Amino acid sequence: MSLHDMEEGMEYLCQRCGNCCRWPGEVPVSDAEIARIAEFLGMEQDDFIARYTDVRLNRSGLTLVSRPNHECIFLDGIDCRINPVKPVQCAGFPNQWNFPGWRQTCEAIAVPRREGGIVES
Ligand code: SF4
Ligand code: SF4
Repeated sequence: MSLHDMEEGMEYLCQRCGNCCRWPGEVPVSDAEIARIAEFLGMEQDDFIARYTDVRLNRSGLTLVSRPNHECIFLDGIDCRINPVKPVQCAGFPNQWNFPGWRQTCEAIAVPRREGGIVES
């Protein structure tokens, strides 16, 4: 995980545009995340895995299913259906990880970094 294009002393507040949920790419989920999301949805873990996950391209684990247009299976308009239990990759963007050029597609706004830590999306 690395950080790019961050202004000194600033952090970024998510504006819930949903763009990061529409980008092509994987959303890896750990065993603990699978357990949490399945419980949140009231599903058995095996059913959740069968319905909502695929094997990652590098076969190192599981990722959430993407729709044919590349958006995440849990995106509902601009809302995340599993927001309270979304994977760490989702919660950590863009303050804990991002990529070169992320600010061209992410609508998060820069605010002075607060005492006590970095905000999650
Ligand atoms: S789990 Fe939620 S926050 Fe993460 S990509 Fe899917 S819709 Fe977006
Ligand atoms: S993190 Fe950025 S791209 Fe993702 S929903 Fe928030 S403002 Fe949009």
